[in-house]
Amino acid sequence: MAAVILDGNRIASEIRAEVSAEVKAMAAEGVRPGLAVVLAGHNPASEVYVRGKVKACAEVGIYSEEHTPGESVSTEELLALVTALNRRDEIDSILVQLPLPAQVDSKRLLLAVDPGKDVDGFHPMNVGFLSTQRPGLVPCTPAGIIEILKRSNIPIAGQEAVVVGRSDIVGKPTAMLLTNRNATVTICHSKTRDLPGVCRRADILIAATGRAGMITREFVKLGATVIDVGVNKVTDRAEFERIFAGNAKREETFRAKGSTLAGDVHPQVAEVAGAMTPVPGGVGPLTIAMLMANTVRAAKLRRGVLESSQTKSAYP
Ligand code: NAP
Repeated sequence: MAAVILDGNRIASEIRAEVSAEVKAMAAEGVRPGLAVVLAGHNPASEVYVRGKVKACAEVGIYSEEHTPGESVSTEELLALVTALNRRDEIDSILVQLPLPAQVDSKRLLLAVDPGKDVDGFHPMNVGFLSTQRPGLVPCTPAGIIEILKRSNIPIAGQEAVVVGRSDIVGKPTAMLLTNRNATVTICHSKTRDLPGVCRRADILIAATGRAGMITREFVKLGATVIDVGVNKVTDRAEFERIFAGNAKREETFRAKGSTLAGDVHPQVAEVAGAMTPVPGGVGPLTIAMLMANTVRAAKLRRGVLESSQTKSAYP
């Protein structure tokens, strides 16, 4: 049996088309949703992510602007920037790109973002809204995972779901969204006993550990749906061989670039899973699509407009 590959690019482009239609409808009423991105310091990976996000905004008609204070920026300076963005009416959502330079108090800064503009859903108020099933903003990657499952007709209610990883950004909110959709959810982490055994209970297995190829076929029940959140840069030849031995296309990339991207799920899992997301081209594109959807949602929530069926779809 070979797993069905869940195409994140296709699902993301569906969502982007829906968001684009909503943006057009809002424009007819004189509203243009706006996103402000704060990219502090110089992190090459963050710069690539932000470029992708700004480009995606332009494609769906969302206004966006970038703020790029230097590496030595202080917490106070960033707090002043966020406060100014909170006050501007044409800005509906604020994204503070992580990681921030080491001297910045990230928790304090994220707490300063207006919860109504908190497009990443990191503010404790949005975390509380999610856990109590009230309207709010939900972190983009977890919301994207739900969209993949929903749009691939994978049932959630009543299913055993196992989430490996308990970060505030991915693991915990994903577990909460699955709980709100009536899955029976187990959260695993680095101290979990018999991790493969616990994972094998899963009808839906979410891997969000940041450990390349860690979830091997021994972790997966026959026919399970496996969602791979991990994005790991593999540069070591031995690690490459462990994950991609015999894969000519990957070999070519690895030779040319000296690295390749791997998920947390070993490719051999495709032999036992019923469906799985690839890396790249799985969860990643959904994260950007949901950023767009969340910006539209924030614009509507702030104006007290009821949401359309499209952008509320990730919300229970
Ligand atoms: P994180 O904050 O480092 O959290 C990793 C979690 O995995 C922790 O809870 C950790 O457990 C657990 N873990 C690590 N090693 C483990 C092991 N051997 N066994 C069991 N659990 C283990 O990472 P994150 O921010 O959630 O991100 C996870 C991955 O998703 C990364 O590869 C990241 O790049 C990727 N990501 C992708 C997207 C996307 O758009 N595709 C978005 C966000 C993140 P403890 O809590 O016990 O330490």
